Parts: sequence; C-alpha cells; structure tokens
Amino acid sequence: MLDQLSVTAIPPLLGASRAQLTDWVQEQQQPAYRGQQVHQWIYQKGVRSLNEITVLPKQWRSEIADIPVGRSQLHHRSAAHDGTVKYLLKLADGQIIETVGIPTQKRLTVCVSSQVGCPMACDFCATGKGQYQRNLACHEIVDQVLTVQEDFQQRVANVVFMGMGEPLLNLENVLAAVRSLNQDVGIGQRSLTISTVGIPGQIRKLGQLKLQTTLAVSLHASNQKLRTQLVPSAQHYPLEKLLKDCRTYVLATGRRVTFEYIVLSGVNDQPEHALELAQHLRGLQSHFNLIPYNPISEVDYDRPTEKQLQQFLACLQKQHITATIRRSRGLDRDAACGQLRASQLAEV
Ligand code: SAH
Repeated sequence: MLDQLSVTAIPPLLGASRAQLTDWVQEQQQPAYRGQQVHQWIYQKGVRSLNEITVLPKQWRSEIADIPVGRSQLHHRSAAHDGTVKYLLKLADGQIIETVGIPTQKRLTVCVSSQVGCPMACDFCATGKGQYQRNLACHEIVDQVLTVQEDFQQRVANVVFMGMGEPLLNLENVLAAVRSLNQDVGIGQRSLTISTVGIPGQIRKLGQLKLQTTLAVSLHASNQKLRTQLVPSAQHYPLEKLLKDCRTYVLATGRRVTFEYIVLSGVNDQPEHALELAQHLRGLQSHFNLIPYNPISEVDYDRPTEKQLQQFLACLQKQHITATIRRSRGLDRDAACGQLRASQLAEV
C-alpha cells in the first residue's frame, strides 16, 4: 500500500524512492544503476548538493549541480540538560520550522513538524497562538529526520508527527514522507506516529490505507463542551463522531489508538472526567498518554502537581483505562509545541 503513496514530483530529490530516482537518472541519459547511487548518497551519506556525489561522472555532476536535493539550513540549535535538542530549520523560502531530537535510553526519537504554523488554534498550544503559513512538502519533513540523525550521529528509531502543524490537513505529503522514512531512511512503520486533533473524514481515510503506523489522537477532554473550549475545531467534529472513527480505524488496521491528554489542573483532571472517558471508550482498544500541561504565556491554565497527576491516573485506572504519564523533555529550552520558535522569532 505504501508504494502507491509517493507524490514527490522530483526535484527536489529528497523524498523520492529508489525507483523514482532510477527513472530520473534514465531520463538524464544515465544508466539505471546511478539511481541507486544517488539514493544512497542522499539518504545514507546525507549529501546536500548533487555535486558532492563523487561517484558520478564529473561532466554530468556539473550539469546537475544546481538541482536541489531539498535539505534545509540549520538556523538555531539548543540543547537541554536532559539531552533533548531543539532545532529551528530554515526552508528554501525562508520559513522557519521546529524539530526536536529526544534521546531516550538507547533510542533516538524525532518530533517533526508537518506545517509552518498551525491553523487549529488549540487554546493551550504555543504554535496555535502564532500564524499559520503553509503545508510542508514531503522533502521538508524527511529532511528534519536526516538533520537530527546527522547531528546525533545515531540512527533515528522513532518519528512522531507532534511538532508544528496538523498532519491530517497535509495528508498527501505526510504519507509520502511516511513512505520515504520507512523505505528510504529505514524506520519501521510501527515506529512512525501520526498525531492529530481530528479532521472530519481523514481518520477513516488513513484507516482505509491499513498502514502499520501508530495513530495518536489529541483528545484532551472527556466531553464535547469542554473539548470545544480547548480545541476550537472540535465544534465541527463531535466527540462521538471522532471516537466512532477511531473504532473504525482500530477495526481496519488492527492497531490500537493512542490518546494524548494534556492534564490541565482543575479543568479536565477530576474523577467525573475519568468516568466520562470510561463511558466513551468502552471496548475501544486504546492507550492514554497523560501529558502535564507545559505553561505558555498566552493563557493561564495551571500545570498539575505530581499529586494531582497521580490522582487522575488512579481515577483512570479504576475505570480500567490504560494510561501512562508522559514527562515533558527539554523543559529548560522552551520544549512545548512551538515555544522555541515563538521565543526566537520574538528576538529577531
Ligand atoms: N496537531 C497535531 C500534532 C501537534 S502535536 C495534534 O494536535 O495532535 C500536539 C501535541 O503537542 C499535544 O497532544 C501535546 O502532546 C503537545 N502540546 C501542545 N501544547 C502543549 C503544552 N502547552 N503543554 C504540553 N504539551 C503540549
């Protein structure tokens, strides 16, 4: 199924499959095996210009030297004490996006952006407070993973689409990037997580593709009224309908859904919220990630105390909801969604 998802109109070459690169070199009157060479030098050696591919004939290299590979420029890098590294990357049109490298035990996870800014305007999210600009192209997503891999000099084990943007508003390019990350960069499908606040029709569409990627749904609330306050786009996508689509997704893919739930002290972390969730989720194969709210300056929600978090976790467990607390990483470097970019842009 993944093979049909490639949409990259080459160039830029990054994001293109081995077969596409083979076609491309042949169009340039080169033998087919050069496609494999270009593929290897782009994905494994990380060349930024075709001129760096020294195994290609000199004459042809100079002819194609100006064809973009599609790599971004490093605009800013900051490392937190826990090893998390945040990057601001500058794209060809000057737009700036945020990417995070998160080392956990022996594995390296990358949190990628799928858009420049985000139109969803969730109340607690720094990205949502800024301006939405545009979708990212496939190569701009794959580039983020290669950049972190090169900087850490370590293979990336997991990719989560939890940076800036709403991936299901950019489904075509996100799927092309998923294909490339899986087949060209070599990351297992199950290690790729697409996170969404929920866009009508798109979860079903994704389910029909029967991928083995992980779906994370940013739920954040146990009823429609509260959810609409926190996630304004929910007014066009009732909670009942969203959860029905999640059930269809589980049936179609055989994969459980992960629910992301930002814990806002006193807002969505009371025993009645756990009860409501239990009613909604009966029989739905899922797992909850509780994320303590990371304060942003634009709104005045409170971060839950450790005790409050544990109490809410116990309430969920009492209702037979499987949940774990996900600790924020790199907090000393503006780690919450969009915060680093916001603070950097403010300085410029
Ligand atoms: N639009 C997609 C992808 C963005 S990731 C989605 O909503 O799923 C969104 C995630 O960023 C949230 O689920 C949450 O895990 C995190 N996030 C955003 N703002 C945050 C904040 N202030 N504190 C903690 N986590 C936050």
